[in-house]
Amino acid sequence: AKLTADDVRSLAKELGVKFIRLQFTDIFGILKNVAITVEQLGKALEGELMFDGSSIDGFVRIEESDMYLRPDPATFTVFPWRPREGGMVARLICDIYKSDGSPFTGDPRNVLRRAIQEAGEMGYTMNVGPEMEFFLFHMDSQGKPSTTTHDRAGYFDLAPVDLGEGARRDMVLILEQMGFEIEASHHEVGSGQHEIDFKYSDALDIADKIVTFKFVVRTTAQRHGLHATFMPKPIYGMAGSGMHTNQSLMKNDENAFYDPTSPDGLSRECKYYVGGLMSHAKAITAITNPAVNSYKRLVSGFEAPVYIAWSGQNRSPLIRIPAKRGMSTRIEFRSPDPSCNPYLALAVCLKAGIDGIKNKIEPPAPCDRNIYEMTMIERERLGIGSLPESLQEAIKELEKDQVIKEALGDHVFHRFIEAKKIEWDRYRIQVHPWETEEYLAKY
Ligand code: MG
Ligand code: MG
Ligand code: MG
Repeated sequence: AKLTADDVRSLAKELGVKFIRLQFTDIFGILKNVAITVEQLGKALEGELMFDGSSIDGFVRIEESDMYLRPDPATFTVFPWRPREGGMVARLICDIYKSDGSPFTGDPRNVLRRAIQEAGEMGYTMNVGPEMEFFLFHMDSQGKPSTTTHDRAGYFDLAPVDLGEGARRDMVLILEQMGFEIEASHHEVGSGQHEIDFKYSDALDIADKIVTFKFVVRTTAQRHGLHATFMPKPIYGMAGSGMHTNQSLMKNDENAFYDPTSPDGLSRECKYYVGGLMSHAKAITAITNPAVNSYKRLVSGFEAPVYIAWSGQNRSPLIRIPAKRGMSTRIEFRSPDPSCNPYLALAVCLKAGIDGIKNKIEPPAPCDRNIYEMTMIERERLGIGSLPESLQEAIKELEKDQVIKEALGDHVFHRFIEAKKIEWDRYRIQVHPWETEEYLAKY
């Protein structure tokens, strides 16, 4: 059962909590904190704590800056790594309200809530299981993150334990103490690259967990003298970090993607959901892959998707449908990377899938061949499109997609695009090392 405000009040007392961090994210998914003492908890739980919204990126202008935090009691969690003496530290994730008492539509958590609500009106609940990939790097002598991995350093090291493996073990233990059910954790293909997967849950819980996960992984890495990064493609020529997102819809406590009477065990709803995701895939990419660097990951050769296709078996397409059926029936959406704002990412996926169901969008035939080996003409004949190749292209696709725009709401839609255009321009005018390498001597 979910914790109530009363539960939180008594738990905080029982556990000897002294400080509470009230958390929320800006529209770029950056975690924000306001720390209060336990004495203020009552007031906080009543939603009476005000903050200045104009100081948060992408929120509001000075004239309309009074915002209120409403902690969600269900998100109450103690930070297990904090010292017990002198008071424990806990956190609450908050929804953001305006001074007139209405929810702030620029709050990413509200964006996801609205998508969940729309699906709920049709009887659906979204379940999500993410696969989180990240790199663990060394810090240089000044304490700045580098791209040197412990793996490579480990080659010269005589240390008996791999630093990264030790850190990851610690991360798993801490996450478990914070209520995560860890299903798998392993070294990934890249040197210094790791993956941790946790059990699926409803979309809002998972978005909260992804934000918490990144924070715990970074903090724990730091205590091991390492830097954890969720940058999508830190090193050229090596695998990037993805955030494969397993998705399913529940209806009346049953998995709506499963249909034992259909030849492949997949329901009409599942197919339409896939059709919806595919038809909005280009615009969604701006949200699920929001960094200039995200597009360096979406290239062939590193198990990241490039083409808009789906398949039951092979891992090159955008959407893979794992073989499991029954309650485990799900689709694996493989384009998202961990630099995205999980609230917005899940909201646009759900919205696209629901649009597929509403409008009965048939997906194309599944593509079980390796798309990377096809020629452009073959792909064209099969109608297989490509994901955007740059942030700029993705933004243009987002600007054109009314359904995804509606999912984000006007506020987030405009602020997001505005900020990302600036980011793209800053990148565009740089002279990159590759260019000097390529042209300095040539011309
Ligand atoms: Mg995996
Ligand atoms: Mg993986
Ligand atoms: Mg996967």
